[in-house]
Amino acid sequence: MMEEMQTQLLHQSRIDSLTGLLNRRSILDELDELVASLSPNELIATALIDIDHFKTINDTLGHQGGDYVLEQYGQRLRQSAGSTAICGRYGGEELIVVFMSVSSTEELLTQITKVHECLREPMIYGMSEVVATCSVGLAVILPGDTASKLIGRADRALYRGKKRGRNCIVVAD
Ligand code: GH3
Ligand code: MG
Ligand code: MG
Repeated sequence: MMEEMQTQLLHQSRIDSLTGLLNRRSILDELDELVASLSPNELIATALIDIDHFKTINDTLGHQGGDYVLEQYGQRLRQSAGSTAICGRYGGEELIVVFMSVSSTEELLTQITKVHECLREPMIYGMSEVVATCSVGLAVILPGDTASKLIGRADRALYRGKKRGRNCIVVAD
């Protein structure tokens, strides 16, 4: 009984209840550990995903509607990112995914494109069809990178995507 409760508490402390993804603290811890234990030839990549014009979505559908979109985004991210990827909620309407054992840029682009297409598929909320697109910043780990440097590059790529007009994937240099 105690053990069950402890397991449940641990789960609750790691998972974001709305999206079902790892919360910010957990995903950052996992990424730190991952970067520290990476073997020399192993590549990982991080994508930051930010829902476009989410304020307008909240204004149009109400806060509950915005929550519904976030919940759907969480489910879709887990389904489309593949079983080896680690997915989290980085902040409000910003999600993060870490792709493991990246073998080529082409394969990575195929993976992230699949995620992007899945996330921006229309969804049904009540009687209405909702289209919530997102912008994605993608960065592959470089020699000497820390987790925060890697995320920083993904974040700058995401910012460029927003400036470029949103609903796109930008790969960091
Ligand atoms: P952009 O395309 O530039 O990303 O514009 P945006 O409107 O998505 O971005 P902005 O950062 O201005 O707004 C994000 C909004 O997300 C503001 C905040 O109220 C809302 N938000 C954050 N967390 C939640 C949440 O858990 N639920 C809901 N419904 N809204 C949230
Ligand atoms: Mg944002
Ligand atoms: Mg946004």
